[in-house]
Amino acid sequence: MKRFDKYEPERCWVGEQHKIVYATKEEAEAAARVAEYDHHISGLTVYKCEYGDHWHIASSH
Ligand SMILES: [Zn+2]
Repeated sequence: MKRFDKYEPERCWVGEQHKIVYATKEEAEAAARVAEYDHHISGLTVYKCEYGDHWHIASSH
């Protein structure tokens, strides 16, 4: 287990978007599947943030 001394925000600015932060790839993928189901869409992907040690969901359109 890693400990972080600094505060880890739950959201992160990516360009002009304030994106939700997921701690792990598995968590982001699970959230992506739920969002796909809720919104009747597909093709959501997850990626590791370049600004921090966390993951985001990206839509492919
Ligand atoms: Zn981020």
